Amino acid sequence: MISPQWVDYHCHLDLYHDHGVVAAECERLGILTFAMTTTPKAWERNRRFADRFTMIRVGLGLHPQVVAERAHELNDVLPLLPETDYVGEIGLDASPAFYSSFAAQERVFTSVLSACSKLGPKIFSVHSVRSASRVMTHVERLLDPNRSRVVLHWFSGSVAELRRAVTLGCYFSVNSAMLGSSRGLSLIKQMPRERVITETDGPFVKTMGIPARPSHIPTTVHSLAQAWGEKDDAVAQRVLFNVQELERIIEPKASLQSVDQ
Ligand code: MN
Repeated sequence: MISPQWVDYHCHLDLYHDHGVVAAECERLGILTFAMTTTPKAWERNRRFADRFTMIRVGLGLHPQVVAERAHELNDVLPLLPETDYVGEIGLDASPAFYSSFAAQERVFTSVLSACSKLGPKIFSVHSVRSASRVMTHVERLLDPNRSRVVLHWFSGSVAELRRAVTLGCYFSVNSAMLGSSRGLSLIKQMPRERVITETDGPFVKTMGIPARPSHIPTTVHSLAQAWGEKDDAVAQRVLFNVQELERIIEPKASLQSVDQ
């Protein structure tokens, strides 16, 4: 069995039409993948699917962009939380297309965080579009930092919000779209390197016109290495090490033990 070589810490594996092929690629190439769900209706199927792969962990989620139609599914999320160490995708989205459901999004997000605060340690992949400050206020108020690790996925807040996130202990999963924009790149350069992890956010993010796949992660690592002025293999190792540190909060999956140093 191959040991992990790469990290895709935010991917929508179940949204690829060929998700079986994508998962097999993760396994063959050693891409440690954190797969999101956008609705708890997809949880059981995804969890059973991921059980067949050592590289894949699945988050239980209710995506803020579907809360307008699915806020009632909070009732399905809460009883399932004790089953998982991984939660995602959750969070807030205050962009114009989703702002009308913002109050419901906050109700869902804060209910999930408070429920988790009464359970064992968890890792969260969190969406924070135009709402980084609100997200952090809830994280700070509701989560015990000793029993939670928050990964801000595709962070796009201000520099002040970035500093606050660092102080709160948050990690950042960064993707090719961020690395390809001057604003994203400028934020990435201000993130402490020991808090940075790679992601694709595939299939939503496109690279060269096609949906990003976990197998594209080496290209993301290359762009990150250029931004940092480091060698590709040093960055790949650093990202793996960062995930290992982050996952110390929970009992690691067997696959991760092989990167212990
Ligand atoms: Mn996503």
